[in-house]
Amino acid sequence: MNKEADLLIIGGGVVGTAIARELAKYKLDITLIEKKSDVGSGVSKANTGLIHAGFNAEASKIKGRLNVEGNKMYDQLKEELKFPFERRGALVVAQDEDDIPRLESILENGKKNGVPDLEIIKGEKLFELEADLNPDSVAALYAPTAAIVCPYELTVALAENAAVNGVEVLLNTAAKSIEVKKDHKVVYTNRGQIKAKVVINAAGLYADEVAKMVGIDDIDITPRKGEYHVYDKKLGSQINHTIFPVPTGVSKGIVVTPTVDGNLLVGPNAQEIDDKTDISTTSQGLENILQGAKKTLPKLSRRGVINQFTGLRPAYKETGDFIIEASDKVDGFINVAGIQSPGLSSAPAIAKMVREILAEILGGLEANKDFNPYRQEVVRFRELSVQEQAKLIKEDPRYGEVICRCEMVTKGEIIDSINRPVGANSVRAVRRRTRAGMGRCQGGFCGPRVVDILVKELGIDHTEVTEDGGDSRILLERAKESLLKEVSE
Ligand SMILES: Cc1cc2nc3c(=O)[nH]c(=O)nc-3n(C[C@H](O)[C@H](O)[C@H](O)COP(=O)(O)OP(=O)(O)OC[C@H]3O[C@@H](n4cnc5c(N)ncnc54)[C@H](O)[C@@H]3O)c2cc1C
Repeated sequence: MNKEADLLIIGGGVVGTAIARELAKYKLDITLIEKKSDVGSGVSKANTGLIHAGFNAEASKIKGRLNVEGNKMYDQLKEELKFPFERRGALVVAQDEDDIPRLESILENGKKNGVPDLEIIKGEKLFELEADLNPDSVAALYAPTAAIVCPYELTVALAENAAVNGVEVLLNTAAKSIEVKKDHKVVYTNRGQIKAKVVINAAGLYADEVAKMVGIDDIDITPRKGEYHVYDKKLGSQINHTIFPVPTGVSKGIVVTPTVDGNLLVGPNAQEIDDKTDISTTSQGLENILQGAKKTLPKLSRRGVINQFTGLRPAYKETGDFIIEASDKVDGFINVAGIQSPGLSSAPAIAKMVREILAEILGGLEANKDFNPYRQEVVRFRELSVQEQAKLIKEDPRYGEVICRCEMVTKGEIIDSINRPVGANSVRAVRRRTRAGMGRCQGGFCGPRVVDILVKELGIDHTEVTEDGGDSRILLERAKESLLKEVSE
């Protein structure tokens, strides 16, 4: 590969894809590279999935401003890109009268950030909102604008729409080194080189390493681990809102939240580690989370847990804030680093801020009149009425074949997920787009059938199908061939 672009974005997480989609609104030749086999498979796939109202981050920080701005942009974004998103509201619950001044100061901070409709609720009204709260609960800060979102579908939707509007999305493409020339940069990847006038570093946990490629060595990103329990859908309806305890200095505390798919999610804890690849869960960490969550919702137990996972926050400890700026050391190089929480909530506003920085660098941007903000709707068979399902099956019988019984995902949906722009190319990529394999049996039944569909749609051999890209091949060789080998030996 030997390519040229006006703009190269390094990193296909929610931030890189949001920037790509925002800049596709202008006449620019844009390439986005992602080192993994799918977009949204870094930090953006393992988090709480909350679009925070914006009362937590200090008003003096960039994230204090961008969280509220981003939150407000989500209604239009959902309308255009059609990803699962619900404004459920959040409660920060105090169980001690002594914590009420803390709630009041969070409310004041929220007001400074511009969060609308915040109020402190006391007494019976609290239990009308959430019947199962700890009976010791005395008050809560109520934030009706807080929302829940599917973080991977959001990222996929942003990438799809960017691609439809001309952005070239290159997967399995890692920036290895960067040469800074007078009026452009040459980014050397594992697949060849890309020459670009401006480079945007949106590499998440690895933003410090990408910055070092151009000689910027004062950004250090520390991984901060957060573990979670995922509960079966039966438990998702136990609560209506996202429930936080009163925060400590370090973290927002153990959150209990419904997900857009109807599950219940409990976590995360916060532990600084050294290894940016350590996404293991620990029995101690998971136990601590459960005990933390039980303080707000005592009836929780391990019953109904169907999965556990870990996410790593890309923390910039120096300021604890986002870094979103044109480098003053290297012309045409923009760092978007240290995007820990509320990065998901802020992503659309981060993209807007990057657009303003870019306009300054390039001396203005010309609108792309052909930009289409709308994403082609994704069929979610399980959400259709019986009449709609029958009509769809009549039009396309592939929607009559259920592949994942736990989540009711049809063959038609899986095929569509593979053939869309920036389509699924592994079992996990299908899972993130359709939920096939995310139910109770965690893919025990549908896994092999998804492999078969990938083989057919991608025109590859069974032994080439991966769990999640890279060297995660599922089937090493055909059983027959392996047996024949053994016999002949
Ligand atoms: C435990 C936890 C809970 C969170 N909860 C919330 C929440 O509820 N609400 C909220 O608003 N935010 C939350 N966040 C924060 C949010 O998830 C992040 O801010 C956001 O996902 C960061 O997105 P990103 O695109 O910057 O990073 P990433 O998603 O990591 O994307 C960066 C991408 O760059 C790629 N990359 C790296 N190096 C290279 C290279 N050399 N070449 C090419 N590609 C490269 C990576 O593979 C990766 O895909 C949470 C985070 C964690 C960890």
